[in-house]
Order: sequence, then structure tokens, then C-alpha cells
Amino acid sequence: MPAQDESTARRQIAEVAREIYGRKLSGASDGNLSVRLTDGHFATTPTGVHKGRMRPEDVVIVDAAGRTLGPGKPSSELALHLAAYQARPDVHAVIHGHPPMAIAYELAGGHLSEVLVSEVVFACGIIATAPYSRPTTQQVPDVLAPFLRCYDVILMERHGSVTLGPDLDTALVRLDALEHTALIYCTVKMMGGAQPIAPHEVDQLFAIAKPQPPPYRQPGAPCPSPEPQPPVDERLIQAVLAALGNR
Ligand SMILES: [Zn+2]
Repeated sequence: MPAQDESTARRQIAEVAREIYGRKLSGASDGNLSVRLTDGHFATTPTGVHKGRMRPEDVVIVDAAGRTLGPGKPSSELALHLAAYQARPDVHAVIHGHPPMAIAYELAGGHLSEVLVSEVVFACGIIATAPYSRPTTQQVPDVLAPFLRCYDVILMERHGSVTLGPDLDTALVRLDALEHTALIYCTVKMMGGAQPIAPHEVDQLFAIAKPQPPPYRQPGAPCPSPEPQPPVDERLIQAVLAALGNR
């Protein structure tokens, strides 16, 4: 799917912003969307406009350096969007959302990278969770950069989500699939939990869903783990050091 012309992008962003708000995938002032334009610029949601009332004329146009071209002020996470486009030539649309069930599941210690249902592989691939970064700061694109290179659906620890796509519809479908998956996972956890699908069967699902290696993965550049590494237990380190000292 090629990049969009400006008027189509304005209309699509306004439509999808209203849909995201209507389906409670973000709060009124939360989250942001963008689309890559044919002229190399980007269309994105403005800051401070209610997502449920977004109009095509509210959409802001920026260049690749984030400079605003024309009226309006872009959203506060614009750097995250630009980092995604820089990392992924195949990506033409980015949605940053605040999907409540996905965030709740992550906060409760759940791992959305686990494959409990087959459909998640087809809709999302691996759902990765990136470590915490402070919203609206340069930390966000810095922390997210290696994840953007490797995954299409990323949960941002204690914050929200990023879904990428060749077009805005695909990025929206992935956001919807993330939240739907989290709803199933939260529910099954409350009912006592479930075993993940066996690894060899997950491999088969990926072979069907994504038979070609993703073109954006650079050879020799390993992908980060889809789950944040557990914090190192300081007491364990002290116990090991004490044991070594006693030898
Ligand atoms: Zn956010």
C-alpha cells in the first residue's frame, strides 16, 4: 500500500481517531495517529483536540524533522511516529493508543507475547512489551527504536501501545486485535489461567501467517526480547558475592 495523498490522509485520520475514541481504545485526549504522505511529509493528529470530534481540517502536516508545515500543533509523541517511519520503510501508518485491557494486563504482570490463542499470530505476530520510558520525552523513541525495527505491535510499559501498518486500517486492526487479545487473556487469568500453545505449533502458525522473513529485519541486528528482562535481584547478587568471598 503506497503512502497517501494529503486530503485522503486527513479524512482517514479523522475517521480513525473518532473510531478509536468511540471504541474506548484511547481516552479523548490520549494517543495519536499519523500517516506517511506521498510527498515525504507526514499527516498527524493535533495536540489538545478531542479524538471523538476530530475533523480533517484539524490534522497537522509535518516534515521528516518534525517541523510543522501550516496551521496546528502536532501531538506530543510525534518523535515516536517519526522514529517508526525512519526504522521501517514498509510502514505508512502509526497509531499510539491507550488500550485499557492491554495496559491492565501488563500492569498485572501478564505477558502478551505468550500465544494462548492462534489468531493473535495472524493479527499481531508477536506482541512485544518495551521497557518504561517517560512520555513525551526523547526517551520514548530511544527506548522504542529497536522494538519498532522488529515488531508491528508493541506495548509500552505503564503507558500504552504502538501499532504499525502499511496503511491506517491495518494499524487500527492491530490495535483492535491487541485489545481483544488482552481481554481474552485477562479473562482467562481470572478463571485460573491457561497453558500457551506448544512452541512447535506456534512455529507452524508463524509459517502460515508470515511465510517470508520480515523485510525490515536487518541481518546481524538482533531483536530485543518481547518481554522486559526481570529486574536483577540485588539480594541474590549480594548472596553470590558473599558465597564467593567465603570460598
Ligand atoms: Zn500516550
